[in-house]
Amino acid sequence: MEIKNKKISIIGAARSGVGAAKLAKKFGAVPFVSDSGSEEKLTASLNILKNSNIDFEVGQHTQKVYECDLMVVSPGVPSDAEVIKIALNKSIKVVSELEFASWFCKGTIIGITGTNGKTTTTSLCGYLFNECGVKTYVAGNIGLAFSEIADQVNENEFVSLEISSFQLDLIDKFNPKVAMILNITPDHLNRYENSVEKYALSKQSIYKNHNKNDFLILNQDSELLRRYLLEHKSKTYWFSTKEKVMNGCWLDNDRIIFSEDNVERFTCKTNDVFIRGEHNIQNAMAVIIAAKIFGFDNDKILNALRTFKGVEHRLEFVKEIEGIKFINDSKATNIDSVIVALKSFDEPIFLILGGLDKGNDYSTIEDLVVKKVKKIYAIGSSAEKIFNYFHNKVKTEIRKDLEEVVASALSEARSGDVVLLSPACASFDMFENYEHRGQVFKEIVNRI
Ligand code: ADP
Repeated sequence: MEIKNKKISIIGAARSGVGAAKLAKKFGAVPFVSDSGSEEKLTASLNILKNSNIDFEVGQHTQKVYECDLMVVSPGVPSDAEVIKIALNKSIKVVSELEFASWFCKGTIIGITGTNGKTTTTSLCGYLFNECGVKTYVAGNIGLAFSEIADQVNENEFVSLEISSFQLDLIDKFNPKVAMILNITPDHLNRYENSVEKYALSKQSIYKNHNKNDFLILNQDSELLRRYLLEHKSKTYWFSTKEKVMNGCWLDNDRIIFSEDNVERFTCKTNDVFIRGEHNIQNAMAVIIAAKIFGFDNDKILNALRTFKGVEHRLEFVKEIEGIKFINDSKATNIDSVIVALKSFDEPIFLILGGLDKGNDYSTIEDLVVKKVKKIYAIGSSAEKIFNYFHNKVKTEIRKDLEEVVASALSEARSGDVVLLSPACASFDMFENYEHRGQVFKEIVNRI
């Protein structure tokens, strides 16, 4: 679509919306940004819009938002939002910010989606590709909006792009050269009318425009992913930690193997992957496949796997003090993430649980906790609930804050133990967000 002199309404004034507005203006369109949120929360974005002479409204979507040739929707806006429904009824073309930005990108896109592991895999992919000698941007739902960089990417450069399902619901021509679906589990069903099928199909649409020159990387172990596969023309690779695959990555005891038509093209040990846990082996496998699609050097791939230290607040190694390892997994705001975290360690664990409880059923982790955890420190508004549930099963004590927790852990843990902040709860009772919680934890540990 030629956008010069076209009126473009952009829904959402956070990072991606601002990026899209600047991109639209740069290419000669007339952007108008509309956000139903309050002005105070958007101050930084609104300042950028003001300085860029871009028109906007906040607090509501007025009729002006429909006076346009195109509507571009930010990632945070659900695809069934009222403003989108009305625009579609008025036959306005509506696309996601992802679709819009992709119109301006000349480089090769590695599109990464899935229920879990997107940020880790997108970061690893960007890191590994750069280490293999190709300039690769890391963008999408991950800090840097795609719109901010799309038009700067050259033909011989890459973008490792994190993609949420809402963004996929509103694509038209978007076609990543390599598409990855890491897994599909029924996590966000509430946003898809509680239909597993709708949610799964939304993820699968990442490759709906693929042709035979494109590549698809899929998780063999994800039942929902296999059940709702779309017909496609792209060359498909699978990865599995459970069984051998023909084309793709699999595990032979502690060896990761990438093979194509039964020929081994890359191999390394599972402990060559620095980031911990079976889930991260899967994330690494997906990236190894992408790297081999482009024929990258095996030694460089191996070196990158060994040196990628992971993403902040996700099983992040903080410091080792007298043989005790401190790990920050503040992003673990639900039980599922805690399961993944506990399974990632063979060492005895001092587990920090608690915060704002979203209705956790701790029976689902009871066995694992009993097996792996030496002691629980319970914090925050759910401390009592956690204490009541666990104190008969595992040593459990309530602590006032993270400062007290770290002091106790230091005197009670021994060399070889792990102190793990993987709280299973939201952070808003004590902190601004999970990043803040992780930051506070790290500061305390690093001060020692
Ligand atoms: P996302 O961006 O999809 O939320 P992250 O990389 O931020 O994913 O990881 C969030 C949490 O999801 C991690 O703390 C971990 O508990 C879990 N996780 C990461 N990778 C996987 C995976 N491949 N399968 C299952 N769970 C995973």
